[in-house]
Amino acid sequence: MRMVIKVGTSTLAHASGRLNIRRSEALCRVLSDVKNAGHEIILVSSGAIGLGTGKMNLKERPQDMAGRQAAAAVGQCELMYQYDRLFGHYSHTVAQMLLTADDFSNPERRTHLENTLFRLLELGILPIINENDTVATDEISVGDNDTLSALVATCAQAELLVILSDIEGLYSADPHDHPDAQLIHRVEALTPEILALGGGSASSLGTGGMATKLRAAQIVTAAGIDLVIAAGQNPEILYDIVDGKDVGTRFIAAK
Ligand code: GLU
Repeated sequence: MRMVIKVGTSTLAHASGRLNIRRSEALCRVLSDVKNAGHEIILVSSGAIGLGTGKMNLKERPQDMAGRQAAAAVGQCELMYQYDRLFGHYSHTVAQMLLTADDFSNPERRTHLENTLFRLLELGILPIINENDTVATDEISVGDNDTLSALVATCAQAELLVILSDIEGLYSADPHDHPDAQLIHRVEALTPEILALGGGSASSLGTGGMATKLRAAQIVTAAGIDLVIAAGQNPEILYDIVDGKDVGTRFIAAK
């Protein structure tokens, strides 16, 4: 199975912006094992701005564009250093691809991006993708990695997109405000009622929230790809997802 796995900043970093060592180690161990079992994996990873914020000892994520781009430039190095080290421990080679909206909308660039991606997979290399945050401005950026991961999954003709997040899945109401909200396990169709559940909040270091995850669901299910949203606190959950067990919320691809 070819899978795109997206991890958010809240899965990789503590609120301080410093690496969450326990989780990033578990994530790379499980992904290495899933890859060893014969699956193809593409990782879409956030965390550049968050880890840059931590590495530069800033109190919070910068508010201005140049500040965020500087944090991303620092944090992307840290991110890839950690991935190279952690996946290297399990003898996997990683590759960095930094993309932005034009790479998907311009047919020529899209072809190049697909060719590179497919060649890396053929070579058994694990592509790790993020937005090119140092140059992407609001007008030309994809803007959030949930959408980026959906675009990557369609380009890669993946069978499954998994978004690991700080939330367990889609709830019948925002669980921050409604403690009795129910987790929805399966979404067969993106009805207006489901899309209306896209409120909710994002963490202080990352972007996103439920709205961007529902947008990702629209993109991939229309392309015939299932999406699972699950909690990233325990990366071992990926074993259950690969085994097709009922975890998080599964959005079923349109037939
Ligand atoms: N590209 C951003 C980063 O690496 C994250 C965007 C997102 O979290 O959606 O910090």
